[in-house]
Amino acid sequence: MAKFLVIGEVKDGAFRNVSFEAVGAAKMIDESAETVGVVLGSGVTDAADTFYQYGVDRVLTVDDEKLENYTPEGWTQALLTVIEQENPDGIVMGHTSIGRDITPKLASRLGSGLVSDVVAIEGGATFIRPIYSGKAFEKVEIEDGLTFVTIRPNNIPAPEQDSSLNGSAEAVQAEIKDLDTVIKEVVKNTTSGVDLSEASVIVAGGRGMKNEENFKILDELAEVLNGAVGASRGACDAEYCDYALQIGQTGKVVTPDLYIAVGLSGAIQHVAGMSNSKIIVAINKDPEADIFSIADYGIVGDLFDIVPKLTEEFKKA
Ligand code: FAD
Repeated sequence: MAKFLVIGEVKDGAFRNVSFEAVGAAKMIDESAETVGVVLGSGVTDAADTFYQYGVDRVLTVDDEKLENYTPEGWTQALLTVIEQENPDGIVMGHTSIGRDITPKLASRLGSGLVSDVVAIEGGATFIRPIYSGKAFEKVEIEDGLTFVTIRPNNIPAPEQDSSLNGSAEAVQAEIKDLDTVIKEVVKNTTSGVDLSEASVIVAGGRGMKNEENFKILDELAEVLNGAVGASRGACDAEYCDYALQIGQTGKVVTPDLYIAVGLSGAIQHVAGMSNSKIIVAINKDPEADIFSIADYGIVGDLFDIVPKLTEEFKKA
């Protein structure tokens, strides 16, 4: 029987949803395979048990204070120990900042394959992933050998949670040697508390916002929709907001159910990061703006009139 490791990410005591989607992905690759959840961190053992409710067969933890914050060195040491112990056929995790960083390192260290940024899985080990900034999709088939797979958040369904399923995580004794990297402080950049890469609603602002202060109207709209605020690089370069909010080719790639693009032109590099959103609404005063060519709904007008009105209307709903 094949065995897949599913690497979960626990943040502030809770799993990122993409970790459960990774369980769904492992089951799509081979429904009969054994799935083993792996959670690394400090004080993560209680949270790790939740993995069972998504149908994993076993849960392993490496719980060590040196893993309190992600560092490539710490995770590499821990995961190499787990991989050596479990000898899996495949390893699946989210295409998150951590997934994007750690999987190429481990794959090159182990001389194994890597299929990154997977958005769909067809009939077992056939993966669909975007190329050319999302303008085309390629199909990648794995023949054999250990392969790492990272999946884009919000694309592959997670199994239904079943709270009657439970179990206890097994601790793996991994020796984490002293780390050269020391994290002194973690600065949180989310404005609404909703993680941008997993948000189901995103309100993104561009250079048309004119200044940092005006981003508040986007915060208000995002808040009533329980969404997150994002931005174009134009807005980040103009210092209206932090680069952590940047969406696009050189920023985050997002696939929310609803993307509201406000005062941004729809440059190709921006569109690369959001064109797979399910519904795109564009607000721009220029009817010729490129963003309208990919929008499902367009509102031509001044964003400073339109956004507060939308917020008021959604508050009533
Ligand atoms: P602009 O293009 O200036 O658009 C502003 C828009 O606001 C205009 O359409 C205007 O009509 C509208 N507007 C102005 N005032 C109002 C108002 N009152 N009401 C309504 N509408 C209004 N960009 C990204 O976003 N993400 C990336 O990851 C990224 N990566 C890049 C990588 C490379 C290698 C390069 C070269 C560029 C990259 N860019 C990226 C930059 C990209 O090319 C554009 O320059 C940038 O996206 C433009 O930002 P913008 O749409 O906010 O600004």
